[in-house]
Amino acid sequence: MSIENSINNIIRNIVRAYELIRKIIGKNVSDNILIMILKEIEHIAIHELCHGALYTIYPEINIIENKNHVLSECINEIFSRLLETYTSSKIGAYTHSFDEHLHELKHYTLLSKLNIRFK
Ligand SMILES: [Zn+2]
Repeated sequence: MSIENSINNIIRNIVRAYELIRKIIGKNVSDNILIMILKEIEHIAIHELCHGALYTIYPEINIIENKNHVLSECINEIFSRLLETYTSSKIGAYTHSFDEHLHELKHYTLLSKLNIRFK
């Protein structure tokens, strides 16, 4: 199966899920809410692609993960978020500000005790 087919299947399932949910609640989800949700789906997909990129170009991250889970998570999240911000800004997609990334990283259990700052 090609990547295009996989993506089309996922999009088709999202549309089918929306149609089923619309039938269940008997209403359309409002446009404002739907647009916000679709942007979040796009954002999450780009973020996860960036994690996939790291595992592809730096498979040694798995070795680090087995030895030092905090270091591995730190490398993984910071790399992915930098690539995500660069990629999203290049294609005109939503991305977090550095302050928003920092806020999210502080809520990762493994990273919550680290003093990560952007200056
Ligand atoms: Zn992540």
